[in-house]
Amino acid sequence: MLQLPHQPLPVAAVPPQRAPVREDEDGPWHAEAVCRRDEAGLFFAPSKEPTAARLAREEAAKRVCARCPVMVDCREHALLQPEPYGVWGGLTAAERRVVLARRRRREVELRKTAAAERIAQAG
Ligand code: SF4
Repeated sequence: MLQLPHQPLPVAAVPPQRAPVREDEDGPWHAEAVCRRDEAGLFFAPSKEPTAARLAREEAAKRVCARCPVMVDCREHALLQPEPYGVWGGLTAAERRVVLARRRRREVELRKTAAAERIAQAG
């Protein structure tokens, strides 16, 4: 497991199932993460956050991500893990679910196309 880039996290914002981080598991891109010290608590929702506050916080986090030099690596990390909470790589958890669903559909279509081509070549 890689170390989280958003540090330190506000206690109320730490998802309960997230394991403690370890220095020796730090990924190379984490060192350049703009959000390593997230004093504003932008990247994870506090408990019982109203919708308007969540949307404003997420937009603020995305603005931070937009100027982060490791946004692509961070986004892929969050998609591959997958990370179920927080803003990672400029995407909210809901946006990452959409991206993952699109990727799954695309993989299915590619497999279908490849299978159809194999059948056509064999016949
Ligand atoms: S892209 Fe955003 S969430 Fe990812 S490391 Fe950079 S600032 Fe943090």
